[in-house]
Amino acid sequence: MDACLSTVASQGPGQIALGTLTDAIVKISPSGKFLAWEPVAQQNDWMSSQMLGQNFSCLFSPSSQREGVPARNLLAARRRGYSTCHLALEGSSSSARIVLVGGELEDGPLVGFFFVSHPDERFERSRYESLALDHIPSAVCVLASSGEPVFHNRQFEKLVVETDACSPPLLATSASIATDERYKPLRALLEGTGLLRLSSGRVMRSTFIDTPEGERIVTINDITEQHLNEKQYAHLANHDALTGLPNRRCFIEMLESEVFSAAKSKAGLRVAVIGIDLDRFKYINDTYGHSAGDVVLRTISDRLVSDIGANEVVARFGGDEFAAMKTYVDDMQLKEFVARIQRHITEPMLLPHGKVVTGASIGVAVYPNDAQDRESLIKNADLAMYRAKTRIGETICYFDASLDEVERMRLKLAGDIWDGVEQGQFFLNYQIQKTADTNVTSGYEALLRWRHPTMGLIAPDRFIEIAEQCGAIIPLGDWVLDKACSEAAKWSVPHRIAVNLSPLQLGDVQIVDRIREILMTSGLAPSRLELEITETALMADRTRALHILRQIKAFGVSIALDDFGTGYSSFETLRAFPFDRIKLDRSFVAGIDTTRHAKAFIRAILALGKSLKVPVLAEGVETAGQRDFLLTEGLDEFQGFLFGRPLDLESIYFGGEEQSQGATYGCVRELLG
Ligand code: C2E
Ligand code: CA
Ligand code: CA
Repeated sequence: MDACLSTVASQGPGQIALGTLTDAIVKISPSGKFLAWEPVAQQNDWMSSQMLGQNFSCLFSPSSQREGVPARNLLAARRRGYSTCHLALEGSSSSARIVLVGGELEDGPLVGFFFVSHPDERFERSRYESLALDHIPSAVCVLASSGEPVFHNRQFEKLVVETDACSPPLLATSASIATDERYKPLRALLEGTGLLRLSSGRVMRSTFIDTPEGERIVTINDITEQHLNEKQYAHLANHDALTGLPNRRCFIEMLESEVFSAAKSKAGLRVAVIGIDLDRFKYINDTYGHSAGDVVLRTISDRLVSDIGANEVVARFGGDEFAAMKTYVDDMQLKEFVARIQRHITEPMLLPHGKVVTGASIGVAVYPNDAQDRESLIKNADLAMYRAKTRIGETICYFDASLDEVERMRLKLAGDIWDGVEQGQFFLNYQIQKTADTNVTSGYEALLRWRHPTMGLIAPDRFIEIAEQCGAIIPLGDWVLDKACSEAAKWSVPHRIAVNLSPLQLGDVQIVDRIREILMTSGLAPSRLELEITETALMADRTRALHILRQIKAFGVSIALDDFGTGYSSFETLRAFPFDRIKLDRSFVAGIDTTRHAKAFIRAILALGKSLKVPVLAEGVETAGQRDFLLTEGLDEFQGFLFGRPLDLESIYFGGEEQSQGATYGCVRELLG
């Protein structure tokens, strides 16, 4: 800025001809005299000499001088270390501003800056400033250090009008805002704290900045939309979109606070968590479509919500999984609640397709009896629910601690299986199979064993199902196949080797390639490998399973139908695929001596085998009586303790046959070659 304005005459006693001044750095003595006046843009010795020794007050108009403005500014700069004042240059169209900075010492000199503004610049600036201030969406209010509102923009006026239905004239409000009870909420905003909800429903929030001079600039914004969005978001984050019920997260929070209050209460409050899983929901979804499934979920949720008490909560965890909670004192209250839930779920409902009925498996766990914290409560209710699911005719199950033990053991074993596969804790036993009429060895079935590092020998009945549930059966089954084939390939007599294949393995896309690979690397003739599969392997996706079986069979590998007679539709399964052998389940053999029924059944199966030209092998032959009966009925092959127990290869080679009543005698030399 190089304002060298035309000289104007002094406008009153003591005021200097300001129009001649340009921007400068100044120094003022404790008594208010200019010790230095150094123009910034150019050296103007004349001006500096004019100003030196003059009093600071000469910059002010006579009226300001009379009011003591110069002295107040000097004092402010000393006290607060900073002061700024605008100088009305009377008789001139220009204006000036002086900013003073206090020194380190209370009575030391002040340093300052003197700025001059162009007249048009000043006019434009203030016009734009007020335009901007009046048109920004925020309400702005400046409070003097006394706390009294001294300036506001137009938005603020609107806000005050809205806050007060009587809409007092604004001048009246500045003072009344500070004192009038009606403005209490508005005052809170001016203090820069909190939210204000207007009678119109709109929501305001304020922020503020304090100036070094002690004024407060308060900005108040209308955050109604944002507030609404936040609320909606919070609702969405805590509720299930389909049913509007609280979701898992919200349920857990509520549970936490209920447990907390119950723990503090002396009234013996209990909190029950109820896990609910709908039965037949998948069927409804698959048969009638997802929209029908949605209607079912909504209907159930509406029924539950419409019949809920003060200390009860119903939530949806997702899918067909619901949960409920009840705070109560008397067990009867809980029983009634659970029965009510069950009634609402199992009551038939009418869909466009017709009437449907859903069932529910319900598990209950109670604070403080069954668990102390929210996670364990939910986990235990789930455990009880799973038990309800697996028990026919028992749809409501209350948690008991032994449940927890069983489940924990399952989880532990599941984890240990993976380690066991890696650490070589598994090994195979082989059980002999014999041709019935000649008593000649026809093959061996490989049976898996697990030597657990701490629990000792574990039978497959205890771990195969767990391995299937956790997926470990894939690597484990792969290991069995590989091991059985490579061992059998070393035998000197080319006996058949039968390997059990889990339904999960049959569903694995890589199984065909894997079998081909194992046959190649082991060098085992495909005709020597027999895979035993159960009917359950065909249940999930029959077409796909049969397709895979055909591919395997095409290598020359034979396929036996294991545990025959225990499935749901054994005869249909037999028709669907050309099995190479039927393995009659040992439960029928065990029944020979005790039930007439079993004998009739065995006869029928043997006849069926004959007509289909599929040989039948009987499992679990333990007694001579069973053997003789089966022999006379024309059975093809035997397997069972009578002929040999499952043994490791070494025992079979070196005298293990004695243990198995000498029945495997002869095979030792065969296998050794
Ligand atoms: P499975 O396939 O029916 O195997 C025959 C089971 O009957 C074997 O039990 C065997 O020890 C037993 N057994 C044999 N003869 C007699 C007898 O005369 N009387 C009695 N009471 N039992 C007899 P194990 O070895 O405990 O195997 C149980 C089941 O575990 C097997 O039943 C099979 O389903 C499964 N399993 C065993 N090894 C494997 C495997 O490598 N993979 C798969 N996926 N499952 C296997
Ligand atoms: Ca088997
Ligand atoms: Ca079997």
